[in-house]
Amino acid sequence: MIPYGKQDISAEDIAAVNAVLTSDYLTQGPKVAEFEQALCDYSGARYCLVVASGTAALHLAVAALELPAGSEGITTPNTFAATANSMAYCSIQPVFADIDPLSHNLCPAAVASAITPATALLTPVHFAGQTADMPALHRLAQQHGLKVIEDAAHAIGSCYADGSPVGNCRYSDATIFSFHPVKTLTCGEGGAVMTNDPILYQRMLLLRSHGITKDPSQLSQQPGPWYHEMQTLGWHYRMTDMQAALGLSQLQRLTLFKARRRALVARYNEALADLLWLSTPIEAPDLSSCFHLYVVQIDFVALGKHRAQVMEELLAAEIGSQVHYLPVYQHPWYSQQYGYKDGLCPVAEHYYQHCLSLPLYFSLSDEQQDKVISAIRGLTECAN
Ligand SMILES: *Cc1c(COP(=O)(O)O)cnc(C)c1O
Repeated sequence: MIPYGKQDISAEDIAAVNAVLTSDYLTQGPKVAEFEQALCDYSGARYCLVVASGTAALHLAVAALELPAGSEGITTPNTFAATANSMAYCSIQPVFADIDPLSHNLCPAAVASAITPATALLTPVHFAGQTADMPALHRLAQQHGLKVIEDAAHAIGSCYADGSPVGNCRYSDATIFSFHPVKTLTCGEGGAVMTNDPILYQRMLLLRSHGITKDPSQLSQQPGPWYHEMQTLGWHYRMTDMQAALGLSQLQRLTLFKARRRALVARYNEALADLLWLSTPIEAPDLSSCFHLYVVQIDFVALGKHRAQVMEELLAAEIGSQVHYLPVYQHPWYSQQYGYKDGLCPVAEHYYQHCLSLPLYFSLSDEQQDKVISAIRGLTECAN
């Protein structure tokens, strides 16, 4: 079976996790700080917190911004629910702006028209690994006094048009990564939040661990060495040392992962270029994306098959595929909670009707990719 995405675990990864298992600390040990430092060194951000998941990273970042309840946050409909959920957790209303038809990322003009006096937050997603137009989005945020959190769950290893790495927070208050096994780097489960803001960092540090601190310089009293105190209502979003050791080891191979993913994307693009009923992804010429997903757009009417039928045919050939994403506001909870109606973001809805993610992961071999390519090309054979 060729899945649409999958982790790659090396002998070094296994050795790194095993070393933690026989060490003194399974959690709260040295690996968490080492992984955080390595992510700062990689990206150039000043601060990093590694956490239990990408969702936890998003939640911490939004919570630490301390935006007034009832604020609005603008995000893309073309994302995993967690992006918008992080706003809902903090009583910020998620507002969806439409996407650009080529990059499938937030369209800056659509964001501009979604801004109201209540808008306080902007959360772009670097969809499939290609960075959103951060210079334009950052400019809008500056003009309107918005905070910016980049959801870079798809985009560790990617660079902006200026060539600098995603995670440096040059265009944002915070940037989050996910280390779920389907993402480019994995910790099993895990996430990280990067920031250059010392105040935001201190707040997130407190919120990651129940709002409790033991730091002598932060305590309201010092009755003895046992003393710690809860100063705000936080959560338990810590990462274990096993996870951090795995992430640290995986990070050593990021350049390799990126090169292979880009090579696979180039190979797909070339092999599928002549199909009239299919369009391959378009990367802006100045970007260097570490592709998380390989998404094609299919004209199912021209092909003469529904998407479910295509997915079943691929499955019969032992090839997995997936759909990224149903516009978030079309999930029942979102339409019921906020009253969002179909038609809100026509470009995202049109994109959703046509998209299909094909297998893309580091260990996908040329032979396996050829099998996917011939299965796709073969879809027309028994079309009526
Ligand atoms: C995976 C993902 C998340 C959530 O990450 P988890 O580690 O699974 O919590 C958030 N946003 C996007 C765009 C994602 O793809």
